[in-house]
Amino acid sequence: MILVNWRVISLYVNSIGKDQRPLKSEEITRYSRNILLKEVGMAGQKKLKESIVTIVGAGGLGSPSALYLAAAGVGEIRIIDSDTVDLTNLQRQILFRSDQIGKLKAEEARKNLTALNPEIKLISYPNRLSPENIQEFFMDTDLVLEGSDNFYTKFLVNDFCVLNSIPFLVAGILRFEGQVMGVKSPDTPCYRCTFLDLPPEDSVPSCAEAGVLGSIAGTVGAIQAGEALKYLLNGNSEVFGKILILEFMSLEFRKLTRKKNPNCPICGKNPKWKDLTHFESISEVRHC
Ligand SMILES: [Zn+2]
Repeated sequence: MILVNWRVISLYVNSIGKDQRPLKSEEITRYSRNILLKEVGMAGQKKLKESIVTIVGAGGLGSPSALYLAAAGVGEIRIIDSDTVDLTNLQRQILFRSDQIGKLKAEEARKNLTALNPEIKLISYPNRLSPENIQEFFMDTDLVLEGSDNFYTKFLVNDFCVLNSIPFLVAGILRFEGQVMGVKSPDTPCYRCTFLDLPPEDSVPSCAEAGVLGSIAGTVGAIQAGEALKYLLNGNSEVFGKILILEFMSLEFRKLTRKKNPNCPICGKNPKWKDLTHFESISEVRHC
């Protein structure tokens, strides 16, 4: 049985007349546990409904973050992933089922998220993100969640978002560790300020080589989603300008403040790059 709190009903009544497009009664019921939070309320829920989030990578991180953002009522979610669902994905990529093996992840994600919440708009891009298509895919987006499995994409997202002042949350996982970093250029350091460039080939093992525990991917993806919702609601995230390092074996979480690198080629004082042409010389994707 679904209980709708009187505070929710009174919020709904109070919202009529103040806004041309109040939430439908079914949406108020669906999101009632959000709306009950004073930090969300009816106004916050409407903000979520009007928001656009682009998720890069429908994998171990993108699966939980997409599920939580769709469930929370983010109005438009775009999913970018060129891969197909593989049997080895299902241990951690909770967005997919066994009967979807071999099918395009972006499209299957769109179907599953629509089934979860038909009130929102979902767009699938079964493409590898590139300097040629990133403008179209990221157009008008409020926030990007980067959870791909390769450094090329992470740096491409960073450089495009820095050049266009689009905030993003980038995350990574390996074995029993996770990291989440927030970038809101020009206010914060960027990903490149800390990591500078793609690591040398074979210097960093991939999940396929080193393994990862599924629930850890889920926790890190859920943190990305939680920070995304906080940003959409109040314009801030606790990881902007910081790296959250999560050591799951010892269960120690640390938040490190990062500094801008004045020599950063994309956000430094005299940036070397003003567009994405430097990606033309990169041939290796380099999985992480
Ligand atoms: Zn930078």
